[in-house]
Amino acid sequence: SKAWTLRQHFQGFPKASDFHLREETLPQPKNGQVLLEAVFLSVDPYMRPYSQTMMKEGDVMIGSQVAKVIQSYNPSFPVGCHVVSDCGWRSHWVCDGAELTPVLPDWPQDIPLSLALGAIGMPGLTALYGLEEVCEIKKGETLLVNAAAGAVGSVVGQIAKIKGCRVVGCAGTDTKVSYLKELGFDQVFNYKTATSLEESLREAAPHGYDCYFENTCMLMPQMREYGRIAVCGSISMYNDTTPQTGPYVHTHMIFKQLRMEGFLCARWKHKHQQSLRRLMAWMTEGKLRCNEHITIGFNNMPAAFMGMLQGDNTGKAVVKV
Ligand code: NDP
Repeated sequence: SKAWTLRQHFQGFPKASDFHLREETLPQPKNGQVLLEAVFLSVDPYMRPYSQTMMKEGDVMIGSQVAKVIQSYNPSFPVGCHVVSDCGWRSHWVCDGAELTPVLPDWPQDIPLSLALGAIGMPGLTALYGLEEVCEIKKGETLLVNAAAGAVGSVVGQIAKIKGCRVVGCAGTDTKVSYLKELGFDQVFNYKTATSLEESLREAAPHGYDCYFENTCMLMPQMREYGRIAVCGSISMYNDTTPQTGPYVHTHMIFKQLRMEGFLCARWKHKHQQSLRRLMAWMTEGKLRCNEHITIGFNNMPAAFMGMLQGDNTGKAVVKV
């Protein structure tokens, strides 16, 4: 078995030498336990801030994977079934069922299992909860989402379209812009080549935004009165070495009576199963599509992670073993 560990804490943007590939000998599974083999592993932005605050040097990198049960002493997880496991960047793992989530039963043959790490997994749930529970989005409203071509952002925009909203997205390459237009976004722009971010935002929605799904950093002045901001992530700051002082936002918050709320997907854990079914239904009906950026090989986990942080991925970034 192999595992990727954090050799040393990242200083700024992660480098290949910050990771270490370790050989491990796993114990024989006992009664109630299973032996897992990784099939797809997820690389996600949260791993960057999490490694800094929650991990010691030498720890195995945190993360989720779709794994196949290859040995089982637990009747709930027979050999051959697929599960989502949070065992980190490991090729194999021995555990009991308490730590495992089976992939949705009746998973359609033509839907890749890797989507259990994307649109039919944590990023899809994050998109759904951010829109419904935090933004309380309503038909006819205008939504802005950034990192729009990513795992969360692309689902946010599509669900908002399903709900009858006008959707504006921004992303970092022209290929991503074209992809988002294909997905049905109403207006999309490349924030890296736009001459003025403010002007692009105003042009895309002259009357302003009712809801803002925030994945990178604040864009406050374009909000409409009583607007709602779901603060999902702040990826533009994850590799900073000095803390940012932040933009001055109070004036807009007060005079437009905005509501801004940070959230974690896990808050609505009790709804996960029914929410995954809703996402899957949209997908089988063809209303929800999800591109995947697939890196081949367990040995390429660090490269896939660093690639995602610098924006290589259109859609969900995953590694196929
Ligand atoms: P993505 O698939 O969107 O991948 C990351 C993308 O972020 C890159 O492709 C890149 O796209 C963009 N990006 C990278 N650096 C910057 C930067 N400096 N400024 C602006 N954009 C940048 O990742 P996810 O969809 O998985 O996650 C998106 C956000 O949601 C993250 O902030 C993440 O932490 C957060 N999140 C929060 C959760 C929660 O429970 N609150 C759960 C899951 C995710 P581009 O080329 O467009 O710049």
